[in-house]
Amino acid sequence: MGKTRKSVRIVIVGAGASGIAAATRLLEKGFRNVLLLEAESRVGGRIQTLPFADNVVDLGAQWCHGEQDNAVYSLVKNTNLTDGTGNYFKDVKNIRSDKEIVNDEEASALKRFLTNSLPKETEEYKGSVGQCLAENYCRGADQLKDPKLAQEILECFKRSQSSLVGSDNLDEVSGRTHLEYKPCDGDQLIHWHDKGFYRFLQLLMKADPENINDLGVIGERLLLNKKINKINWEPSVDEIRVHTTNEETFLADYVICTMSLGVLKYCHKDLFHPPLPCSKLQAIQGLKLGTVDKIYLEFLSLPDSFIGFYSLWLEEDLQELRQSKRFWLEGISGCHRVLNQPRILQIWIGGEHGRYMETLQEAEILEALQWLFQKFLSFDIPHPQRIVRTQWHSNTNFRGSYSFRTTFADQLATGPWDLEEPLSGLDGNLKVLFAGEATSRNHYSTVHGAIEAGWREANRLNDLYLD
Ligand SMILES: Cc1cc2nc3c(=O)[nH]c(=O)nc-3n(C[C@H](O)[C@H](O)[C@H](O)COP(=O)(O)OP(=O)(O)OC[C@H]3O[C@@H](n4cnc5c(N)ncnc54)[C@H](O)[C@@H]3O)c2cc1C
Repeated sequence: MGKTRKSVRIVIVGAGASGIAAATRLLEKGFRNVLLLEAESRVGGRIQTLPFADNVVDLGAQWCHGEQDNAVYSLVKNTNLTDGTGNYFKDVKNIRSDKEIVNDEEASALKRFLTNSLPKETEEYKGSVGQCLAENYCRGADQLKDPKLAQEILECFKRSQSSLVGSDNLDEVSGRTHLEYKPCDGDQLIHWHDKGFYRFLQLLMKADPENINDLGVIGERLLLNKKINKINWEPSVDEIRVHTTNEETFLADYVICTMSLGVLKYCHKDLFHPPLPCSKLQAIQGLKLGTVDKIYLEFLSLPDSFIGFYSLWLEEDLQELRQSKRFWLEGISGCHRVLNQPRILQIWIGGEHGRYMETLQEAEILEALQWLFQKFLSFDIPHPQRIVRTQWHSNTNFRGSYSFRTTFADQLATGPWDLEEPLSGLDGNLKVLFAGEATSRNHYSTVHGAIEAGWREANRLNDLYLD
């Protein structure tokens, strides 16, 4: 091999959680020639913390999901950077489109029944999550005392579950998902006080938290606004040539790709020369990057007792909504207050409706949301002072929010393991490695999955240079 940790050239494409994890691990291990190339004008990728209202909001990742075996939590558990959300969301109400607030116990019982209708923890369900839910719902339907309400809660539950998974609907989600994705035990909604998830990246980069421009140990090894449009990894040639859209070329011995599954889906044909092998193409096609967007509204103040609501559409109202220009409101899965931010509301919207919302002007979004509040709430919500919404799908550096396993991936018998598989040269030496959340076998769709994947690929290279 001839090269050492000090001289070997490693290019990392993307400075999101995974790229930063890979870079910091490599630097820790003594690699010196590490270069991060990032298409955006900022680091963090799908971690994006923005000053808003009284402190900050997270446009992407917001909570650390779990404690046990969680790469994010393992780094912060002995600090005072995080806290649990506790029962904060228990007072979010289920409200029908005629303003009726559903009794909490009745709503909880129905949601328990629906949760129990999802594929069971250890069983393999050969079909989609949507199919499994529909079958079990039909079986239990004759015991439901208010079928109309049950149907409304079912639709709302499907929207919330799709938003959790990141899918357009549950019919595209593999019934095997729960056999592969392993939730980390412990609190699922660990938050970052008034600092946001970016505080975690500052910790990882060893950056000064008081100086937002400080990028710590990666500062001198990072180039922003470098969008890669070709990775020339000719197996018979030692050197890899990495080209950018502004016609620069970087030479590398190894490249670690961390761009999202959405970017890979859209760009792999142009991006890689020679083309990717069949198994990787199957993973890129079979897995999916869904759309989950957020809208934050800032108010002068909000009523103390109001925490948020899930919208239950009466059938006749839903039909009317679907015929109107505000049809996209159907994709909203919930609306709630945010801890440490007394003056804002957070709204979740996903799938086709989310992608449509991304195309609207902010004024149109505001008008529709105010209509929604009037439709569901029996009190007046003041006019928002400011709005910020995400456009994860439209942004060509992401093309979606987070990845999930589809029934198509089941058919192709593919998964994150194929996406992770590195590309080698004719001599068998590694050339191009793949990290990013979608390559994590058990923790895809999360920051901890992205971090683990970055560390995994850094360790893979480090193992080649053990003395
Ligand atoms: C709305 C939303 C809410 C979420 N909530 C949570 C949550 O609460 N908890 C949680 O754990 N996870 C959450 N996630 C998921 C989490 O944010 C991601 O799994 C994680 O941040 C992905 O990190 P990554 O490094 O794999 O990818 P990215 O963050 O996408 O990083 C890849 C980087 O590559 C860059 N790039 C892309 N193409 C190119 C190119 N051609 N050339 C150069 N650079 C390129 C991108 O700009 C990006 O910076 C959420 C995500 C979203 C969108």
